[in-house]
Amino acid sequence: NSNSKISIIATSPLLKNPPFGYINQPYFYNGIIVLKTSYNPYSFLRYLLDVEKRFKRVRTFKNAPRTLDLDIIFFDNKKINKKDLTIPHPYWEVRESVTIPLSLVGV
Ligand code: AMP
Repeated sequence: NSNSKISIIATSPLLKNPPFGYINQPYFYNGIIVLKTSYNPYSFLRYLLDVEKRFKRVRTFKNAPRTLDLDIIFFDNKKINKKDLTIPHPYWEVRESVTIPLSLVGV
């Protein structure tokens, strides 16, 4: 990638998962990226939201179809519980879309 504040360490395979919440939509492709960054968690979140915007993601309703969804699962060993940012991601353990790619990423 072209952002000098981010370097990719490892990537998982992309796995196909059924939608949850709003079921009447196509399957999702999910994957994990392990990376090193000089962003702090908040500026990194802002960067991710900006990337989503560049993929023309339009927010309509919860669990709606989307072109791209970027979530922070872990950030070092930090625990953050703010209105706009929860780390570790609150549902990572119950989502196969997270746990399976995570088990395959191998770091
Ligand atoms: P969503 O519509 O599901 O993509 O939710 C995006 C919003 O979730 C963002 O605007 C963040 O403020 C919030 N959020 C809270 N915790 C996290 C996290 N760990 N990773 C990404 N977004 C988060």
